[in-house]
Amino acid sequence: PLTSKTAIVTGSTSGIGLAIARGLAQAGADVVLNGFGKPEEIEQARAGIASAFGVRAHYSDADMTKPDQIAAMVRDAEERFGTVDILVNNAGIQFVSAIEEFPGEKWEQIIAINLSSAFYAMQAAIPGMKRREWGRIINTASAHSLVASPYKSAYVAAKHGIAGLTKTAALELAPHKVTANCISPGYVWTPLVEAQIPDTMKARGLTKEQVIDDVLLKAQPTKAFVTVDQVAALAVFLCSDAASQITGANMTMDGGWTAQ
Ligand code: NAD
Repeated sequence: PLTSKTAIVTGSTSGIGLAIARGLAQAGADVVLNGFGKPEEIEQARAGIASAFGVRAHYSDADMTKPDQIAAMVRDAEERFGTVDILVNNAGIQFVSAIEEFPGEKWEQIIAINLSSAFYAMQAAIPGMKRREWGRIINTASAHSLVASPYKSAYVAAKHGIAGLTKTAALELAPHKVTANCISPGYVWTPLVEAQIPDTMKARGLTKEQVIDDVLLKAQPTKAFVTVDQVAALAVFLCSDAASQITGANMTMDGGWTAQ
């Protein structure tokens, strides 16, 4: 159903973004991957998507802290594929520290990658979407767009910001058949999360199950991780015609975390 559409997914060299890019490609969209990593692994992911789903796949190394590189990524995709119909602002990083010790440069970097990059990408992609009277903007927010946790000031501020930016975009774009929504996952099983488990087991003298239930999933009533494929399925649904009246929504997928 997404054949002849083009999607940019920022931060799609791993984790949630890669799963969303694969999901959109499986639905027929040409995709632009973006993010950092080992060149051979990125090329493997790019070529794998192109051959598995018979779509065109391109990689952009644009740094989401650099507004000019973000605009160039969108321009390049439009030249290469003709349109940018789907924009998934997903790149994100975390840093954990008390406010009084939080390094100023980490604050700036998180606001730039997790919030401002979405603004600049939208600014570049919206004119084409309006012209064609079709568009889907999906921002990967977080349960932290709705509730806070201590020591994550920049992340929580950026994610609350992205929720507000999404609502504003939804209102501006509603007359143009362009929707803007956030997906707000709880804890998602990514290599990043998995890698923390052995260290936490050692540091706290806990079993793997205790680390998962009592540390990582403390806030998540289902005591189960969200999977990247579940997030991707929601993103693909938000691109469908069935979702054309969903706009300005903050769709949680958090095992009940924010219901508490
Ligand atoms: P990840 O670390 O696996 O992926 C992050 C991606 O962003 C990578 O592709 C990385 O290269 C890219 N990236 C980082 N800095 C960049 C920059 N300056 N320019 C371009 N790309 C950059 O993490 P993930 O868990 O897949 O997270 C993806 C998104 O999902 C983030 O916005 C994150 O906040 C959000 N999220 C994750 C979870 C979770 O539990 N994993 C939960 C809620 C929300």
